[in-house]
Amino acid sequence: MLATVAERNAYDVALENFDFAADALGLESDVREMIKYPERVLTVTLPIRLENGLIHRFEGYRVQHNTVRGPAKGGIRYHPNVTLDEVKALATWMTWKCGVVNIPFGGGKGGVTCDPKHMSLIELERLTRRYTSAILPLIGPQQDIPAPDVYTNPQTMAWIMDTYSMTKGYPIPGVVTGKPISLGGSLGRNEATGRGVFYTTQSTCEHLRLDMNGARVAVLGFGNAGSIAAHLLHGSQCRVIAVSDSNGCIYNKGGLDVPKLMRHKERTGKVAGFPDSEAIAPHQLIALECEILIPAALENVIVEENAGSVRAKIIAEAANGPVTPEADRILENKGTFVIPDILCNAGGVTVSYFEWVQDEQHLFWDAQDVYNRLERVMKTAFHEVLGIHVGRGVSMRTAANMLGIGRVAEAIKLRGLYP
Ligand code: NAD
Repeated sequence: MLATVAERNAYDVALENFDFAADALGLESDVREMIKYPERVLTVTLPIRLENGLIHRFEGYRVQHNTVRGPAKGGIRYHPNVTLDEVKALATWMTWKCGVVNIPFGGGKGGVTCDPKHMSLIELERLTRRYTSAILPLIGPQQDIPAPDVYTNPQTMAWIMDTYSMTKGYPIPGVVTGKPISLGGSLGRNEATGRGVFYTTQSTCEHLRLDMNGARVAVLGFGNAGSIAAHLLHGSQCRVIAVSDSNGCIYNKGGLDVPKLMRHKERTGKVAGFPDSEAIAPHQLIALECEILIPAALENVIVEENAGSVRAKIIAEAANGPVTPEADRILENKGTFVIPDILCNAGGVTVSYFEWVQDEQHLFWDAQDVYNRLERVMKTAFHEVLGIHVGRGVSMRTAANMLGIGRVAEAIKLRGLYP
């Protein structure tokens, strides 16, 4: 359903973007060698007994890209297209992302190649517990802290927390974030990524002097990140004119009623069939005349072949890696303002950090406290990235990479080379 025209290997994209930023930073080759590649890569085989009685073998991964500034941090993805290279790319982006928002974590990511839409709850629980025990030597509140990503959720985190805690013999909520509130989750974590997308979009509109009132928004991927961002923008008088999910795209020129649409999606499992909307094709959504386009599904949706059709003024990258480097160059020439993923969607990891802090302190904050702190972190990071973009004349993506990579490089120089 995505408008992917040409596949790009996400890890190649991550390395290419690293090189742009490292060149712009004038980073020494020694430092590049030390921070470019993952520190640890684990592949695990997961035999699971399915409900039909047969055993099926799944493959899973956990990658720790960098732990120089703190424990590895990053979500776990369940998707049929998960590959080791994709997980390595996502782990790399997590390292720079934690640097951009200046939180004391490194980058990690995990994934299992599976199709959760065709698995029962019991099968998903078995898979999650087996995966947790397989990656157990790597994870822990001071080592590597997983979180939800595509098609994993607070329930998945609860199973991971339980499996880990049962193995250690006592409850250890800080091993994962994105947990249910009753298990030590943070208020505001569920909507943190979408809220971060909202704050950075708001700052961009202020910077571009673009009135949010009536601004047209199109969202590709109406899941956790995309639907919350759409909801908050709708609440700020933007007009959400189109959204999509893996089942289809819908459009209403006058604006969709987002709260109603969220209820429709919850009830039916899809956006298609929402009253007062017409179906359009994914390539039409990408090419819609609008002010703000939010890719919020998977990688490589805006590529060389379709970047020319984009008419949005702002692309807010809720998803990781939705725009390829070739498409970036086309968008830059057109003057499209791209809020890069490692800045735009960093609200999730920021509130994950808040959750971990609260778990470690056994002291919990109210929702408004979380929102206020998140807004401060996101807007500070936005202005730091914008300062580099304007001051150095580089793209917003290179500016964000320079900020994130620069912080990791500084830390590695101070720590030196072991042994
Ligand atoms: P999610 O599973 O809640 O939502 C993903 C959405 O994308 C779903 O609505 C799904 O139907 C849709 N989708 C999947 N395949 C699609 C397709 N082919 N065409 C159109 N839509 C499609 O996942 P999420 O947590 O919202 O994550 C979305 C993106 O945001 C991912 O790139 C993820 O890495 C990134 N992200 C998420 C978080 C987080 O905290 N959830 C944090 C940072 C980045």
